[in-house]
Amino acid sequence: MREVARAAWLDASSALNPGAQYASGRRARSIVDQAREDIAELLDCEPIEVIFTGSGTEADNLAVLGLYHASPLQRAVSSPIEHPAVLEPMKQLGAEFLPVDSHGRVSSFELLDQPAAVAALMWANNETGAIQPIEDFVAAATASGTPAHIDAVQAVGHVPVSFAASGATTLAASAHKFGGPRGVGLLLAKRSVSTPIMWGGGQQRGLRPGTLDVAGAAATAAALREAVGEQEAEARRIARLRDELLEVLDDLGCVIHTTEPALPGHLHVSVPGAEGDSLIMLLDSRGIEASTGSACASGVNRASHVLLAMGISEPIARGALRFTLGPSNDSLEDLPAQLAEIIPLAQAAGMA
Ligand code: PLP
Repeated sequence: MREVARAAWLDASSALNPGAQYASGRRARSIVDQAREDIAELLDCEPIEVIFTGSGTEADNLAVLGLYHASPLQRAVSSPIEHPAVLEPMKQLGAEFLPVDSHGRVSSFELLDQPAAVAALMWANNETGAIQPIEDFVAAATASGTPAHIDAVQAVGHVPVSFAASGATTLAASAHKFGGPRGVGLLLAKRSVSTPIMWGGGQQRGLRPGTLDVAGAAATAAALREAVGEQEAEARRIARLRDELLEVLDDLGCVIHTTEPALPGHLHVSVPGAEGDSLIMLLDSRGIEASTGSACASGVNRASHVLLAMGISEPIARGALRFTLGPSNDSLEDLPAQLAEIIPLAQAAGMA
């Protein structure tokens, strides 16, 4: 969590229920209103469009299921490379999936020629970092009258995001991806969105009822302000480091899965002849924290659904290794030397 977010959280931590009518409730309410206004300014939307949730996962589910149930059309469209927060509800709805090319980008929107109740696509992929053609996605969805949801959890705070310019009906973000608290998500939802999938006290347009987390809202707004303020310079700095690491991994014989346009800090590769799990355990034992695919799926020894959708063979996909560089990385330090030692060790251990 960014220092500004911790300070904002602490400041607001004794606020009372923002739904209460009395003075302390009104004070709490004004903290939430300010956070909502700040977020709206930073993500280019109206304050009323900002809905606080308990996670990015919850924001994605609210959007996908809410839009689906609001429509008489029983049709949903998405991509096979989505995070489980979108992929799993989409599977529940029997969704049709858009094709993906070998770089991990959606390659055709023909499925959207016919209207659907909801279509969802991620702004940027959490494993490869690949930025998706979201303009084409929203244009295709809009042309057939299909509400478009964008999962921007990886994008917000890392690349410029304007909800108004995106043209999407809904957009999801998650505070912990830009230095805010874990357990706070954002759903940006146009005024036209009105079908709830949960019911309660009617807070937040009835779309996300429940007593609001005042400190979480204030900390999220503070983190977002700092992240957006330094985004351009930080993206340049991190992309330079990422490119340096890419060269190292390329020289060591890795298969590179991340291609431009991509998030600045993401680098997804495969080490032929090695298990991803062996690689991350060897790296971890030397204090280097990387992952095989998405952190959410770690502990499960399975090839990444994203790499398989890109047409990568199963043995290569099982050697996946993902680095995510961020504010705590000033340089690569001794990572190149460590990798030169670890990769042959993991290859010698072979495939399980
Ligand atoms: N969508 C994407 C693209 C993600 O990367 C993640 C988390 O990593 C999520 C959704 C879920 O967000 P949260 O962890 O806040 O539930």
